[in-house]
Amino acid sequence: DLAMYTAKRSGRSRYQLYTPELDAGTRDARLRQAIADDELVLHYQPAVTMTDGSIRGVEALVRWQHPEEGLLMPGAFIGLAEETGAVVPLGEWVLREGCRQVAEWQAGIAGAERITLSVNLSPQQVKQADLVDAVTGILAETGFPADRLVLEITESVVLEPDAPTIARLEALRDLGIRLAVDDFGTGYSALSYLQQLPVTILKIDRSYIRGIADDERDRRIAEAIVRLGLAFDLYVVAEGVETAEQARLLTGMGCTVGQGYHFHRPMPPDRAAHVLAAERAKL
Ligand code: C2E
Ligand code: MG
Ligand code: MG
Ligand code: MG
Repeated sequence: DLAMYTAKRSGRSRYQLYTPELDAGTRDARLRQAIADDELVLHYQPAVTMTDGSIRGVEALVRWQHPEEGLLMPGAFIGLAEETGAVVPLGEWVLREGCRQVAEWQAGIAGAERITLSVNLSPQQVKQADLVDAVTGILAETGFPADRLVLEITESVVLEPDAPTIARLEALRDLGIRLAVDDFGTGYSALSYLQQLPVTILKIDRSYIRGIADDERDRRIAEAIVRLGLAFDLYVVAEGVETAEQARLLTGMGCTVGQGYHFHRPMPPDRAAHVLAAERAKL
């Protein structure tokens, strides 16, 4: 069945640890210090219209520039941060820095005025009573337009949303922020939440995109997710598009927006600014 199929396909390591000889408390303290010391950096991956490659927006992806261990990917520290709650200050840092940076690009790069910024929200953040205040404060502080912000939540958040969670997500929606379900298809999806929650975007998990060109089953699953999205009036985005053939098949299914190495890898800010500026020159 789909759940088993999903479990088999998503063998990602969430707990690849930095300085594994240290205990969890020490590692947590080290990460909190890193947030305060500005050791975190954001890389940006564009989402494009797959038919012409034009950039719609960028997703902010956090990395830790660790002084001894080098550039650490989120898989090395987000899992622990989620467990200890450090993901809350981390997430606020990401939102603030992402809004600051993209507002700067919107103001300074011709053609980039309307790009969106997508930021991943952790389940812990969505549970925070003051989430809406924090987001409102950061938008005011950075001048970032709410209608250009997309917050990505995972299925685990929305599986059994309690009333306060639903109220928070609705309050974000009322501010003009859009909500996306990330990694769609990898959780234990209860489709009812798609109607209960103010979600407007579905991101098909890359584990389903990987095989669409040569695996009939993957293709059917991707097709089913695209149709489901359209049936619920949702905007469907494909993640992990690595080949022209995958992009072509997705476009044929009615999924027009994609993200993946075939178009752009996540890039440090200077490189992303360069790509955004070059994009304008192409038009
Ligand atoms: P995600 O939000 O689903 O982000 C997409 C991940 O897929 C990124 O990995 C990206 O580099 C990778 N990716 C993009 N295109 C391709 C492709 O064509 N092929 C392949 N194989 N991979 C591709 P990354 O940056 O390592 O992030 C992993 C996850 O960590 C993210 O998955 C997200 O769940 C989490 N994450 C990243 N930044 C943050 C953050 O600021 N806050 C929170 N709470 N989570 C974050
Ligand atoms: Mg994401
Ligand atoms: Mg994703
Ligand atoms: Mg994913």
